[in-house]
Amino acid sequence: MAYITSKNFERFLEALNKDYQVFAPVKKGEQRFYKRLDADFGDILVGEVRAFEPVKAFFTRAREEVADGFKPDIPHAADKPFAIVGVKSCDLKGFKIQDHVFKNHDYADPFYIKNREENLIISADCTCAIETCFCLALGVDPYPTEGFDINLSEIDEGYLLETGSKKGKAVIEKYSSLFQETNERFIPRRDKVRKKVVQEVEKNIKENEVPDEKIFDGIIEKNFESRIWEEEAETCVECGACTVICPTCHCFFLYDQKDEKKMARFRTWDSCMIKDYARVAGGENPRAKLWMRLRNRFDKKFDFFPKVADVYACTGCGRCISACPAKIDIRKVLKRLVKGDEKA
Ligand code: SF4
Ligand code: SF4
Repeated sequence: MAYITSKNFERFLEALNKDYQVFAPVKKGEQRFYKRLDADFGDILVGEVRAFEPVKAFFTRAREEVADGFKPDIPHAADKPFAIVGVKSCDLKGFKIQDHVFKNHDYADPFYIKNREENLIISADCTCAIETCFCLALGVDPYPTEGFDINLSEIDEGYLLETGSKKGKAVIEKYSSLFQETNERFIPRRDKVRKKVVQEVEKNIKENEVPDEKIFDGIIEKNFESRIWEEEAETCVECGACTVICPTCHCFFLYDQKDEKKMARFRTWDSCMIKDYARVAGGENPRAKLWMRLRNRFDKKFDFFPKVADVYACTGCGRCISACPAKIDIRKVLKRLVKGDEKA
């Protein structure tokens, strides 16, 4: 473990800019959004809570060209890789799903793998919780324990820093003059902040009666024919925001586009909440009704992924609660599923 002062941390980010496109969250209104850093490092937020947009956006782009004239090995982005600062624990857990789909499965996606190998993840402990955080119910601590290259724990004068990969270690060694040995008195201060945030998340969980993942086993099967799905889907406007914003959702759509010069294949994010997502040739649709698509979304998260990847595809980040214009609250749906509650 090492320590870096706030002033030296700015110098560190400036230095990183030579090899990476550095992004960190800044606050706009009540939300935090990633911003590309060049000269101005003053307004960045390392701590607080997760950014509004999920970190998956740096690893699978919302829209990208994946083949040019049907040649799959197109030269991709001459740009520098990303260094993403202030990534939170709930986003890191999302990689368990993203890696399963794009890296450790039947087909390994070369674009995703390249990004996973080259991008640098500088995560950070949460220093507060917001009303929608329920990570602890999904077994995620509000401070990273794995999945990062470097992790930062904010204390008054700077950051305690831990490396989690060879890549992270190499970066720290390269700029070793900016870092110093940890002072033992910082550890209890880090732990005090961690404890405070744990208590805040526990309070959210208690107030919203969010069930724990330990009792999720069989909740979809048990409620498969329940009216819960129709009742919960009543206000849904089929916007797909809940899936786009989710750090674990990964579905995509491939299409070919032709202009005067060439034919190219593109990939865009897709959403299983949209009517035509499952439509097949001939026009049949196995999930024609909106409630069926809502059920499918929960089925993937709480039945399919635990079976195939031994992990629930939800990290308790609460983004879908904030993003849903219909105010469909995943915590409430989970509570109903666990209780087998037929009434809204
Ligand atoms: S389902 Fe909702 S709370 Fe769970 S990881 Fe996705 S956006 Fe976050
Ligand atoms: S964000 Fe809400 S309204 Fe939009 S598709 Fe998801 S559940 Fe439906």
